[in-house]
Amino acid sequence: SKRILVVGGVAGGASAATRLRRLDESAEIIIFEKGPHVSFSNCSLPFYLSGIVEDMESLVLMDPETFKAQYNIEVRVNNEVIKINRSKKTILVKDLSTGREYEEHYDKLVLSPGASPIRPNSIEGIYNQNVFTVRDVVDIDNLKTYIKEKSIKDVAVIGGGFIGLEVAENLRLAGMNISLIEALDQVMAPFDYDMVQILHKEIMDHGIDLILSDGVKKIGKDYVELQSGKIVKAEALVMAIGVRPETKLAEEAGLEIGETGGIKVDRNYRTSDKDIYAVGDAIEVYNRLTKKPTRLALAGPAQRQARAAADHIYNIPVRNNGVIGSSVIKLFALNAACTGLNEKQAKAAGIIYDYVYIIPQDKVGLMPNSSPMHFKLLFEVPTGRILGAQAIGRGNVDKRIDVIATLIMMNGTLEDLKELELCYAPMFGTARDVVNHAAMVGLNILNGVFKQVPVTKVRDLVENNAHIIDVREKYEYEAGHLINAVNIPLSQLRQRVDEIPTDRPVYLHCRSSQRSYNAIMALQHMGFDNLYNISGSFLGISYY
Ligand code: FAD
Repeated sequence: SKRILVVGGVAGGASAATRLRRLDESAEIIIFEKGPHVSFSNCSLPFYLSGIVEDMESLVLMDPETFKAQYNIEVRVNNEVIKINRSKKTILVKDLSTGREYEEHYDKLVLSPGASPIRPNSIEGIYNQNVFTVRDVVDIDNLKTYIKEKSIKDVAVIGGGFIGLEVAENLRLAGMNISLIEALDQVMAPFDYDMVQILHKEIMDHGIDLILSDGVKKIGKDYVELQSGKIVKAEALVMAIGVRPETKLAEEAGLEIGETGGIKVDRNYRTSDKDIYAVGDAIEVYNRLTKKPTRLALAGPAQRQARAAADHIYNIPVRNNGVIGSSVIKLFALNAACTGLNEKQAKAAGIIYDYVYIIPQDKVGLMPNSSPMHFKLLFEVPTGRILGAQAIGRGNVDKRIDVIATLIMMNGTLEDLKELELCYAPMFGTARDVVNHAAMVGLNILNGVFKQVPVTKVRDLVENNAHIIDVREKYEYEAGHLINAVNIPLSQLRQRVDEIPTDRPVYLHCRSSQRSYNAIMALQHMGFDNLYNISGSFLGISYY
């Protein structure tokens, strides 16, 4: 029977081991995990800070005894694999509790060592005792204990990715004063700049001091000095600026490392050694949209790769179509999800694209909790192939983004999305769901039915005295409007066409772009042809 060793006992490692057992009852399977816990919920760690997850023990999903009893899998926690000897097909293991080193032989080896939080040495004080990272149960316990024991009130979170945001939110919910510091001009890089302004507002509305385009220079006992010279009060600091794949073991064994820094694997998750597989955060994957290698540190892909690697060891064909990157986050009252490419990525990949930005209600307006959903959909020009989407709102953004992710995986187009038959009742959505609606607008744009300008251009338009018409009703206009915008409500448009210039471009907007679209269609039928819809309209503009 086969002897299969697994390095790393969490998302990828535990999934690979249990799948292997289901495929072969007689194999000897051993998991080596350098930490004290196997199979814990990394993704739930931040929620322990606020108390949403009440006790630390519940973060650990399985223990070595249960693995043995339920799966006949041996788990050795506190055992670090420190070397791979490929010619002998052995690994060298260090028992961290005793310091003893020993060798184990393998027929097949599966690596799922994950990725470790980045701590740049260039930051003065980066190894101070008040600096924390969040990767495992021990980390989160250390952070929570430190905050409690030292009665800490001011915490700086460095990095506005999803781990940084979740940590910031949960510490804020626990009553801390939070400074969130991000080197880029936006949080959540998978979202475009126009969409992410909604998240910036939510962060600030909840009393978090959001500092963008600035980085940490020096960490003191109760302060952080930023690159700009600004001093931020912080008795504790959480570094969440990203993760680095754990490739040391693989590299030292001479396994090939990919151009993005992850372990290189083939379509079956086999490394450059045919008896060694690698999965999870440590590997380089293939992005099926850009057709380029990339890295993707998410739990779903890690588990799928683990199953595929196990299958391949037992000669079960694997289907590997590459990744698209789908993720979701809750941030206070908002939910934000995205999939596929954003504008930055589409541009970088040289893909010709256009996009839709709509803000429909997520449920029928009469229903409780109906609220606007900001929805952006990218598609390829001229094919209409769907490339990506981003959704932010109070409602079910994940449902919408999952629909788009499904279509992307199946090479779907705007036509497919327009025709997609989805379930509807007023409590759940609208008869023409957000995603159907986006496809209709997308087809109009693709077919040149009307022209649009992005909401990010509005400031330039206003500064250059462009002719902007606000087609909302008078009371809406009076409650707040763009400087110099002329108010011609859609309900009066047909009587007031004489007021619309024909000698220069005219930009129209309403609250969500829908009435302005109707206005443009009416005016185009009357012969006007230099009209632009401001995509995102007033709801979008209000975030600038
Ligand atoms: P891991 O799950 O990190 O497991 C690797 C294990 O290998 C570690 O326990 C490590 O100790 C061990 N190890 C490393 N080297 C050795 C060695 N030499 N010997 C022995 N053991 C070793 N993803 C999502 O999709 N959604 C989320 O909401 C989400 N939230 C997250 C929140 C946090 C705070 C964190 C940290 C991650 C989150 N993730 C989320 C990412 C997700 O957890 C990872 O993508 C996933 O766990 C990767 O699985 P993995 O097996 O590659 O690595």
